Amino acid sequence: MQTISQNESNFKSLGEMFFDVLKNNLDPNKIAMIDKVTKKQINYGELLDQSLKLAEELKALGVNKGDFVGIVSENRPEYFVPVLACFFIGATIHPINGIYLLGELKAAFDISKPKIIFATEKSLNKVQQLQTDTNYIANIINFDGNYLNIIRERSGLTKDEIVVNCDHDSAVILNSSGTTGLAKGVILTQNNIKCSFNYLKYPYFDINPDNVVIGMMPNFHVFGFILGIGNIHNLSLMVILQKFQPNQYCEIIEEYNVTSLHIVPSIGVFLAKHPIVENYDFSSVKDIISGAAPLGVEIQRVLEQRFNCKMRQIYGLTETCGGITIVPMGDKSKIGSVGKRLPWVDIKIIDIDTKEEMAQGGIGEVCVKTAQNMKGYLNMEEESKSMYLEDGYLCTGDIGYVDEDGEIFIVDRLKELIKYKGFQVSPSELEDILNSHEDIVESGVVGLPDEKAGELPMAFVVKRENVDLSEYAVKEFLAGHVSLHKQLHGGVKFVKEIPKGASGKILRKTLRQLIR
Ligand code: AMP
Repeated sequence: MQTISQNESNFKSLGEMFFDVLKNNLDPNKIAMIDKVTKKQINYGELLDQSLKLAEELKALGVNKGDFVGIVSENRPEYFVPVLACFFIGATIHPINGIYLLGELKAAFDISKPKIIFATEKSLNKVQQLQTDTNYIANIINFDGNYLNIIRERSGLTKDEIVVNCDHDSAVILNSSGTTGLAKGVILTQNNIKCSFNYLKYPYFDINPDNVVIGMMPNFHVFGFILGIGNIHNLSLMVILQKFQPNQYCEIIEEYNVTSLHIVPSIGVFLAKHPIVENYDFSSVKDIISGAAPLGVEIQRVLEQRFNCKMRQIYGLTETCGGITIVPMGDKSKIGSVGKRLPWVDIKIIDIDTKEEMAQGGIGEVCVKTAQNMKGYLNMEEESKSMYLEDGYLCTGDIGYVDEDGEIFIVDRLKELIKYKGFQVSPSELEDILNSHEDIVESGVVGLPDEKAGELPMAFVVKRENVDLSEYAVKEFLAGHVSLHKQLHGGVKFVKEIPKGASGKILRKTLRQLIR
């Protein structure tokens, strides 16, 4: 395996790296992030100034190296200020989806038990309720409230107070349901993140100071998180769009001369098919990269024609700190390919039953060994261990093959995960909730294939005899417990029984066949 070159910055902590980059870019005209709708913006100097002040505040509030800090926020210009502040003091940041309902928030934060949570006007009530219901949250910092006093009143940490030598310490916790249903916190270390910065460079993403990108991938997901901090590290301009709106998305591209589009397949479908795209000038776009879920080959073809540029795919997991394969710039990869392994990543394909490595071209589970691999799941030793083979390869739960040119194709998913518009949906989380309904005997949830969203969560339900339970009632019941992306967009099908294997495990493959 090729190792990553030990350039000078590899020896620095993330805190030192970001301090040095930002210190040299204090020009007030150098904007880091601007919100398309509110027009609120932050320049690189303000990012440094505010994050040093916040770091000082966090220390004063008793946050030390190794402690956890949560964020429950939509994407916004100040989002990465607490992230950088945590890098400076060696604390671990745990970003969570801002639209999560209270129960989902609790399940996520019960894993890390953060001392401090950053909230916004939109999430404040939920976070305050969580503080009342738990005993670990000492303080809440509201971006739209006390945050403003802090950055007015603090003077800021100095460079010699920034933590050093912390490569193997955790930097961020990102939520993933992994190969089984339980909510888990993926521990990504400082070193994992530094490694991922290598794929942000040419010939992979090529994020540089001349780039303009759109910040719409959610920052609590590995794709959005790495792109967000990578944008800051590489000094490009990120235009934030909190929520996808077709016109606003297109306006950003035209108004700001966006150079690269980083998308999930559902945005790809929009760009390929929606008539309003014709009304805008997209000539500034030189590069489109799709990740987080499978991109349909037909959509890829149309996009390449419409934009007259190569449509590139990236493939990776939260557990691998994002991308492990990518189609490099200028590469004439085949349609449908997720590219080649990155030079510092080793990939092997194993037989699903025997776990033996397969000959080139064989279709099996994709396994990966790289310095990007997570440290493990927080406080879940058994689940962490079960992700790895004895030789240290991490099992992705994806089915694929490597062709004669080294190109990788992902053809199916072994793990239970459903991907709705790139968002993770855990079938067993939904089944647990459905099964708690008094009129439901049991349920099985799978992904209904859908061109726009990729997959739609859909439930097979066995209802109690002689009860009157409608599809609407089931959907409404679930909607009371989970956020929008986890709702039953694929509908409900009432059945007599849920097919199960000898061990009692739901046979999801059989359920998927029933859909067909
Ligand atoms: P997440 O941890 O949310 O990033 O989800 C990782 C999973 O998303 C992978 O294990 C795959 O199942 C899927 N995935 C990510 N990128 C791709 C891609 N380019 N093609 C197909 N599936 C993908």
